[in-house]
Amino acid sequence: IINKKHSNDVKKIKVKNVVIGGNKLVILAGPCAVENQKQIMESAEAVKAYGGNILRGGAFKPRTSPYSFQGLGEEGLKLLKEAGEAYDLPIVSEVMDTREVEMVCKYVDIIQVGSRNMQNFSLLREVGKVKKPILLKRGMAASLEDWLNAAEYVAAEGNEDIILCERGIRTFDSFTRNTLDLSIVPIVKELTSLPIIVDPSHGTGVRKLVTPMSLASIAAGAHGVMVEIHPRPKEALSDGKQSLDFTEFKNLMEKAIGLNDFL
Ligand code: PEP
Ligand code: MN
Repeated sequence: IINKKHSNDVKKIKVKNVVIGGNKLVILAGPCAVENQKQIMESAEAVKAYGGNILRGGAFKPRTSPYSFQGLGEEGLKLLKEAGEAYDLPIVSEVMDTREVEMVCKYVDIIQVGSRNMQNFSLLREVGKVKKPILLKRGMAASLEDWLNAAEYVAAEGNEDIILCERGIRTFDSFTRNTLDLSIVPIVKELTSLPIIVDPSHGTGVRKLVTPMSLASIAAGAHGVMVEIHPRPKEALSDGKQSLDFTEFKNLMEKAIGLNDFL
């Protein structure tokens, strides 16, 4: 379904007043995890103030260690929804379990399937049945073919509103958390009609690389960029090292808008 490209048209996915896959660059930003009301409200305010379009925030976190902060669950989704409504921003959050798809759908505008679940075929089938766009992150060891077939699993159940998200793959080097594969952006655009965005936060794991790699993503033709921001990155309960503070986010937004206009 989605692997066959019939025209040069990109599938435009509309969430509230935001179009992903249109001519306008879309910026998704927010904390790695929703931690409390103050933190998510402050983040939403910054996203809105500096020109971001969609608020992100994890409530179910796929942490490497079972002893790390796992997210606030449904309570986190409530806080995220409240913040999205307060600042008129659509929201995106991850679902990790087939049993929670229906509940997560009650809160979010876009459902995220994370890297670690990219080949969780039961989950892909389940989100394929819902009537909300899916943000499908690339698995950290997934080939292009694996990734597009994962999207196909979603589409096969009837949901073709899929946004692909490159988030870095595992390579031998450890100076970054992952190796951001920007070369996949133009290839995906050639092979599919789905919009593609890039997440340089998880893609690098290094704060100072987030801005240059966001700009590189835009130059490579991404329809959007998703970045982690935090009011106080040093205090973040997850991924503080790759989170921008609000000043850094503001600078990124100015550059991103400038570059997009130039292109
Ligand atoms: C995230 O975006 O919150 C996340 C956990 O990313 P990934 O699935 O790419 O690791
Ligand atoms: Mn994160």
